[in-house]
Amino acid sequence: MSILYLVVPCYNEQEVLHETYSRLTQKLNSLIERKIVDAQSRIMFVDDGSRDNTWNIISELHEQNSQIVGLKLSRNRGHQNALLAGLLTAKDLCDICISLDADLQDDIDAIDRFIEQYQNGCEIVYGVRSSRKTDSFFKRTSALSFYKLMKVLGVDIVYNHADYRLMSKRALEAFAEFEEINLFLRGIVPLVGFKSGVVEYERHERFAGESKYPLKKMLSFAFDGITSFSVKPIRMVLSLGAIIFLASILVLIYFIVIKIFGFAVAGWTTIVCSIWMIGGIQLLCLGIIGEYVGKIYKEVKHRPRFTIEALLKD
Ligand code: UDP
Ligand code: MG
Repeated sequence: MSILYLVVPCYNEQEVLHETYSRLTQKLNSLIERKIVDAQSRIMFVDDGSRDNTWNIISELHEQNSQIVGLKLSRNRGHQNALLAGLLTAKDLCDICISLDADLQDDIDAIDRFIEQYQNGCEIVYGVRSSRKTDSFFKRTSALSFYKLMKVLGVDIVYNHADYRLMSKRALEAFAEFEEINLFLRGIVPLVGFKSGVVEYERHERFAGESKYPLKKMLSFAFDGITSFSVKPIRMVLSLGAIIFLASILVLIYFIVIKIFGFAVAGWTTIVCSIWMIGGIQLLCLGIIGEYVGKIYKEVKHRPRFTIEALLKD
């Protein structure tokens, strides 16, 4: 039988942890009783440098119940890095691993269907939201446009899938070979390949505490996703440059013709406008190129993506 690890990143989640703990252990024990997963299966809480009582609660739960594994990052590194730390640590301990959020917005009854797909030979199973009813209008439309934009830019991501997914040991091992620093897991995982499946589920509201993903973090995450996976923006700069060059030739011809026929007027406005326009476009292009250069800079440094302070196990 396979050993299952549930990997749960937690950042300032003291309000939800006890409830999450009881729901997840109930789920895990039912899977063990039904002989779907091995009794060695565990729930791993990854504390992403929380400032509240999260780590104390995780340690207490670990004392009470050896099914709980605790992993503490030395400081807050963000959801994606915390998840990465959990996945890479679980990789050597489990046969299958499912990542989910601490607030249990993702329906945990989908876990049974995840494992079914795994038993049918899938190495990766993506949890996909069946609807976005519980989202605000803004979140719904912004998410939708994001997926559309990614598609236009040629990035292969699974529609309406966040980070609720199952990965087998084999998939995790292949995934561990990706060493990039700008983490956008839902873009990297499809690159791993292997047979994959999809499970649909309903997403609920957060039952306690508040979102750790304010608008600012969400936008920077989306921007990171685009610039880490697509070179189309830089190609657009090239096209833009070409178009402007052609246009400037046409304008030049126009002025020469006017000059020949003697209608030329002192072109102060035109000159000033073009200086500003070209200057603006150059700055824009430089900005985009700079974004890529910044990414290369970070990759080249090969900094560790996380530092583990402690690992509580058994
Ligand atoms: N999270 C984390 N580090 C962070 C921010 C969030 O580990 O810096 C965790 C958080 O504890 C939760 C998950 O990432 O388990 C998703 O966060 P949240 O539910 O706040 O996001 P939302 O569902 O609102 O998008
Ligand atoms: Mg949430």
